Amino acid sequence: MKIAVLPGDGIGPEIIAQAMRVLEVLRSEGLNMEFEEAPLGGAGYDAYGAPYPEFTQKICRAADAVLLGAVGGPQYDTLDRPLRPERGLLGIRKDLGLFANLRPAVLFPELANASTLKPEVVAGLDIMIVRELTGDIYFGQPRGMRVNDKGEREALNTMIYTESEVRRIAHVAFGIAMKRQKKLCSVDKANVLETTEFWKEIVIDVAKEYPQVQLTHMYVDNAAMQLIRNPKQFDVIVTGNIFGDILSDEASMLTGSIGMLASASLNETKKGLYEPAHGSAPDIAGKNLANPLATILSAAMMLRYTFNNEAAAARIEGAVKKVLAAGYRTGDIFEAGMKKVSCSEMGDQVVASM
Ligand code: NAD
Repeated sequence: MKIAVLPGDGIGPEIIAQAMRVLEVLRSEGLNMEFEEAPLGGAGYDAYGAPYPEFTQKICRAADAVLLGAVGGPQYDTLDRPLRPERGLLGIRKDLGLFANLRPAVLFPELANASTLKPEVVAGLDIMIVRELTGDIYFGQPRGMRVNDKGEREALNTMIYTESEVRRIAHVAFGIAMKRQKKLCSVDKANVLETTEFWKEIVIDVAKEYPQVQLTHMYVDNAAMQLIRNPKQFDVIVTGNIFGDILSDEASMLTGSIGMLASASLNETKKGLYEPAHGSAPDIAGKNLANPLATILSAAMMLRYTFNNEAAAARIEGAVKKVLAAGYRTGDIFEAGMKKVSCSEMGDQVVASM
């Protein structure tokens, strides 16, 4: 298994170091993994003058999976747009054809007080949102601002999906549901938008290939309400780019702890980019304060979704659960009565619990 490791900027190197220690445990026991490190984002700019330098492109293209820390920092905010760290992220997503974004919203029961919702509503929450990432109104043509023939300014975007785009994301979502509770909710606005009526029709067709999965449909406005009212009703949610953008952020906030949330973006061959959902946290960078668990859980997702190694993934997740149950907390998830640890001490605990 060839893994490109991109620590990136800010807290990126600190959290990646802890995830690497956890993967090293598995490697020392015989799991065949090869790691190659490369710079992305501001680190790419510093080393090679580009946020996604050719050096990094070569390594990422040759790898089976990419493990990323985070990119960005105030020192890069004044660069020309094409040189900014965030462009490195867009560049790698496009280059690797990552069309399926997997955003789990998991709330370990031990952290139920971190949420703004009542603990009984969110404790044990485990939702996977599958968002289509390369189509929809964000990319549809025509788009732009113009003056119409009555002389008034107007702006437009085009919501569009091709059948193949919907089919491939539906297959990813059904495949994930098969590995979980076998419940899939497709979110649309089929009562108003033809694009999503079409989406729904194709999802229903793909469902014939997955008879064990229970498929339901929900309008996006209702889904936004249900995520707050009764989020535990969901197992896997699949939706288009714009609805997924909004719902996945909403779902991630149900947990109240951004330092815990992993994510993955996959292409057609299950090659994936795995990264924490948070950014580079410049305010705490270099202080050994960051929570490395989102990155460690991203490494677990990598083992599950690209390498099909459920046992190894579950082992990492089990180790994280044990560490939380034993009361270890980084500052972002700390509560009175718990044991406060640094980033590297959290890594020590997960490694020990492995
Ligand atoms: P952020 O996620 O970096 O930080 C938001 C807040 O959460 C900060 O107070 C930070 O200290 C805290 N935080 C984040 N991750 C944490 C962790 N693992 N442990 C403890 N606390 C954590 O978002 P931001 O401040 O809006 O952005 C900072 C930089 O990150 C910007 O340059 C932005 O462009 C970039 N960014 C990168 C990504 C990415 O790499 N995928 C995503 C979002 C933002």
